[in-house]
Amino acid sequence: MMKIYNTITRKKDIISAEKGKQINMFVCGPTVYDFSHLGHARTYLVFDAFAKYLKQEGFVVFYLQNITDIDDKIIAQAKEKGITPSKLALDFEKEYLRDMKEIKINSVDKYAKATEHIKEIISQIEKLLNNGYAYKTGDGVYYDIVKFKNYGRLSNRTALRTQDAVSRIDETKTKKNKGDFCLWKLSKPEEPEWESPFGKGRPGWHIEDTAIVEKYFGPQYSIHGGSRDLIFPHHEAEIAQMEAISGKRPMAKYWLHTGFLTIEGRKMAKSLGNFITVRDFLQKYSPEVLRFLVLKVLWRSPIDYSEKSAEEAKAGLEKIHEFLDRLSGIKITKTDGEGTGQRILEKNKADFYRFLDDDFNTPKAISSIFKIIKEINKLIDKNLISRDWVIAIISFFQEANKIFGILGKNKKFPVPSPVKKLSAEREKFRKEKKWREADNIRKKIEALGWKIEDTDKGAVLTRK
Ligand code: AMP
Repeated sequence: MMKIYNTITRKKDIISAEKGKQINMFVCGPTVYDFSHLGHARTYLVFDAFAKYLKQEGFVVFYLQNITDIDDKIIAQAKEKGITPSKLALDFEKEYLRDMKEIKINSVDKYAKATEHIKEIISQIEKLLNNGYAYKTGDGVYYDIVKFKNYGRLSNRTALRTQDAVSRIDETKTKKNKGDFCLWKLSKPEEPEWESPFGKGRPGWHIEDTAIVEKYFGPQYSIHGGSRDLIFPHHEAEIAQMEAISGKRPMAKYWLHTGFLTIEGRKMAKSLGNFITVRDFLQKYSPEVLRFLVLKVLWRSPIDYSEKSAEEAKAGLEKIHEFLDRLSGIKITKTDGEGTGQRILEKNKADFYRFLDDDFNTPKAISSIFKIIKEINKLIDKNLISRDWVIAIISFFQEANKIFGILGKNKKFPVPSPVKKLSAEREKFRKEKKWREADNIRKKIEALGWKIEDTDKGAVLTRK
């Protein structure tokens, strides 16, 4: 049973699936007008690892992410560069996907672009106009927040504070309430525009997400995520839109908000100019160091990034590699008759999953891995080694790596020496053309979780 901190209920809630084992998860994607920085990477790495964990827990996850490819910032940046907004957005969308691939984010099932969902966006705005939640002004269509009585529930804002003028709601003199946000913006000369019943223009920022989720998931689904800056007004606005359209509550059952990645205590942001791009980071460190740096910290706590934190992550990762190399190199001479190694593994493996089940506590889960390393190293020092636990530990590290992705694709998992020994025996039988004996050994190797493939260069062992 897994629990996760839910912004809307302000407590840890047990995760349950929609139908059968299905979990639909939507995470707010980037506005593509520049390169991704470590702050973006932090948020997307958390959701990548989280989706992988849910899958490992047996859920069927569909992970959807939008891409904001039309927005005021895109238009402004394109103007500065002297290219069209669509060219700028397409270029940076490609760069974003490239960066995410580099850092091994591969759990997203569908990326959906705002500009490819204009029809769905218009249809949602029409519904909001028809049911009285939206109104037209001289420059577009706005959402009347006073009409939605739960406005402020997610962010825990009082009626007065929901009127705050905050970013990306669009200011206009003809709005009814200060906090009303834009659904459709009529275009000015030379701005990108789409035909609509309300005049030529472009969508507001919040409506693209609800149009996209409704298309793929319907009006209700499990998880909606992003970083904490999106709680207000973005996610508040999305709830107001979707629930006013469908009349169904809640839009999403779990609202997950990651902590910021900060630098000298301030949020890393394009607008503050204090950012380090993902690709600059990767000039110096591996993708695995970045994943480890992020997953060492609880997903909803801040990470204050510094060169020191990157070095610490690198050193931590090296310890895990050294341990795996040590395991693969040991010769099994004596056995651990008392089963101490097995007990160490079982206890810490159980802790590892217990920690992940409790609010996806990756730092505590990582501490279980380090406990295994510490305790097992002591046994190896005393030459108390058992074939079975060497194999079981390697399997467990592989299992953990499916969620964390910190050991790298190129990191070959060490073939435990008992498996190597069996393989050598099999080779001998093969040379002597004793096929039955060789085959029996192959079965033993497979039973230990390894696959054997005969190549021109000899037998190659891989994990099953
Ligand atoms: P944006 O492109 O600014 O819309 O950001 C895309 C996603 O990255 C959103 O979920 C943001 O909340 C998140 N994000 C941006 N900056 C940071 C940061 N410094 N730390 C964590 N997440 C961030």
